[in-house]
Amino acid sequence: MSAANVDERVFEELQALEAIFSPDIIIKWEDGVPKGVEMNVLPSTCDNTDEQYVRLTLEICLSPDYPETSPKVIMRNPRGLDDRILSCMQSDIEDKLNENIGHLIVYELIEMVRECLTQCNLPRGQCVICLHGFVQGDIFIKTPCFHYFHSQCLSKHFIAGKKYYEEELDKLPAWQRMEAKAYQQTCPVCRSTVQFNVDDLKLAPPPVESIDAQPFHLTDEIRSMQERMAALMAHQISRGGVIGIGDTEPPPLIITDPADQQEPKSSTSGTQSAPRPETSTSVRTTGNSASGAPASPTRPPYRLRGFNRRGKPGRRGRGGSR
Ligand SMILES: [Zn+2]
Ligand SMILES: [Zn+2]
Repeated sequence: MSAANVDERVFEELQALEAIFSPDIIIKWEDGVPKGVEMNVLPSTCDNTDEQYVRLTLEICLSPDYPETSPKVIMRNPRGLDDRILSCMQSDIEDKLNENIGHLIVYELIEMVRECLTQCNLPRGQCVICLHGFVQGDIFIKTPCFHYFHSQCLSKHFIAGKKYYEEELDKLPAWQRMEAKAYQQTCPVCRSTVQFNVDDLKLAPPPVESIDAQPFHLTDEIRSMQERMAALMAHQISRGGVIGIGDTEPPPLIITDPADQQEPKSSTSGTQSAPRPETSTSVRTTGNSASGAPASPTRPPYRLRGFNRRGKPGRRGRGGSR
């Protein structure tokens, strides 16, 4: 396959895409032959990045005889989108491709995905800290890694994480304490390094759904789930699947110590020889992540707001602005 065999229109299309989307688009070439494009697609919010709650990486692989053969479309790294939305988008893309065989389609695909992200520009699912959803009136925060938490929940997570870190630090011998790094906030979902002002987060009201929620009761169902998770955790530790970050800092994972649990055997993972607490029911993460996004400047908490189709703040279904 040489560049001479490529449809002339494809070069023009790629040139136009570069002019429109640069620097967000990457065009991939091999020996002068276009192989495809890759782009981080975000909702249209008039360039207000603080109001972008969803995103994905769109990869469009061009076949050698594109546009006579449809390109292959791959969606990667979705954030804030659930499986239902992704499969809807996938089937819309398939329809679009089938209707447009023989036509240049990359620009339309990118715009179609962007339009869909603009329409569902609200975080889905639950806050992993409190397990309540995000509803109108909630104040929540988006991390640079595109994970969402109620601001107050995240403040509690950081306060507890720092407290635990300091307790663990106190248990280390003095020389190790000297070498240990300072406590670093990490995302509770992916452990990317983050940087937030806890005092600001703390001012947010509690999650709306938590206000009228039934008080928590430990049921037999939860207890048996805890037992299953404890056994799984012990298995992962025994197989070296829980990775620490070195010997000079408190372990990044802790295991709490309920009186009513039997003690599963815990062995040290290959990369972690610091002392590790022994018993197990629940796990929370603290400490440093080995890798992660660069620290961001302190951001203000966000208030849940919806967007209309043009990306302007406004009333729309479940997320009308207040
Ligand atoms: Zn929460
Ligand atoms: Zn994250």
